[in-house]
Amino acid sequence: MTNLLTPSSIHCPYCGEKLAILIDGSAGNQDYVEDCQVCCSPIDISVQIDSAGQIVDIRSKRDTD
Ligand SMILES: [Zn+2]
Repeated sequence: MTNLLTPSSIHCPYCGEKLAILIDGSAGNQDYVEDCQVCCSPIDISVQIDSAGQIVDIRSKRDTD
């Protein structure tokens, strides 16, 4: 089984720092929470993947919204 991890980046909605993340394009659309590497706040990350496994959109927002 191939694991296609694509490096990407988001901005933390709490502290504004740029964060490097890895996205698994083979897993389809994703919505998960990951702690900020700088301020440790829970970031709600939404990733849209197209049928070819390419990343269409990445959104980051506060988990408390
Ligand atoms: Zn942060």
